[in-house]
Amino acid sequence: MKKPAKLFMAAALSLSIIFSSFTAGASGETDFMKTTLNNNDSISRLFESKPEYCLYCGEVHTGAGGQFKRFFHEAAYFFCGIFGKYPADGRMYFTFDTLDIGANEPFYFIHAGDTHVSYIDERDSGDARLVDTANKRIAYCPKDLRMLDDLAVKAKELDALIVHTGDVIDFVSQKNLDIAKDFTANNDVFACAGNHEYHVYIWDDGEDYARRDSVQNKVNASFANDIYYSVRVEHGVKFIAIDNSFHKIDKNQLDLFKAELAKDDMPVILALHVPLYAPDIFKFQMEKLSYPHPAWLMGVPEEIMREYNYEEQWIEEQKANEATEEFYDMIVNAPQIKLIVTGHDHAHFVSQVTPTLKQYMVDTTEGQIFMVR
Ligand SMILES: [Zn+2]
Ligand SMILES: [Zn+2]
Repeated sequence: MKKPAKLFMAAALSLSIIFSSFTAGASGETDFMKTTLNNNDSISRLFESKPEYCLYCGEVHTGAGGQFKRFFHEAAYFFCGIFGKYPADGRMYFTFDTLDIGANEPFYFIHAGDTHVSYIDERDSGDARLVDTANKRIAYCPKDLRMLDDLAVKAKELDALIVHTGDVIDFVSQKNLDIAKDFTANNDVFACAGNHEYHVYIWDDGEDYARRDSVQNKVNASFANDIYYSVRVEHGVKFIAIDNSFHKIDKNQLDLFKAELAKDDMPVILALHVPLYAPDIFKFQMEKLSYPHPAWLMGVPEEIMREYNYEEQWIEEQKANEATEEFYDMIVNAPQIKLIVTGHDHAHFVSQVTPTLKQYMVDTTEGQIFMVR
């Protein structure tokens, strides 16, 4: 090695030591409250069991061109490691809140949603419509696998339960179901179904109950809990996950929910995919989007829905049925329900459903950490 090269190596090494001690020292309270999660990054990941996604950009590179790109990205990742600063773009970030609802002992859970994994492999390659769907949809959430990875690392770090409010997968494919199964088997995940759990060809299929019924069993088998309706108790707090993915629930779910609330007065955290109507979130939703649209909420009063400048079919589909109306009334009148966690609309919003009941909606790249006491 020539002298200048030796000097460069020595400088790079000392810089990397300085930077790594700096980043290690920075992982204090503020980092924990709101941070882009980079603490599972290290140069050694290049040489250990590498994830399927590119460590540098978070995307999955496919084909010969993709492999070429990945090679250069990994070289860039290596240099990021030398300087102790990994790319933060597209990583999951976390916000923090405390919930005082009378748990037996304090515990953490992370609320996340709308990961939308969108892959197929050779098992589905004979289905041209599905291949077309996968090609179109990967651009929608290209860093989906990195999100799941970040989420898993954070949950392990805090020994936290992950409450996923649906749309883990973007559409039904063998590969997507395998990813969901791996994620829910290797982490402690409690989930409710999202509308995309039942999508097959996007978007030439709407919220079609016959299609949902045809895939429901195999999708459900890829999750650790029943994503149609589940109850789980953690340290004296009851989590109830209900599939309201088509903007409503059915009579069976309502009966199960009623019976569950009548059992005891344990504090309840409700996990739904579609957020519940409240004036503040309705206003937020209507102002957020520039194209004509409904509010994408559950239980919107019909007189307000008439003002939507949108396709009649979607408005019809989003009208509450009897069970949904009764469900809504029960939620706003049951003091034991302490929190609602939701997703679906891919934005962060904290809604005040009643003066004492908050509803969190998370964005795809956001994990909401709750410390429950
Ligand atoms: Zn979604
Ligand atoms: Zn959704």
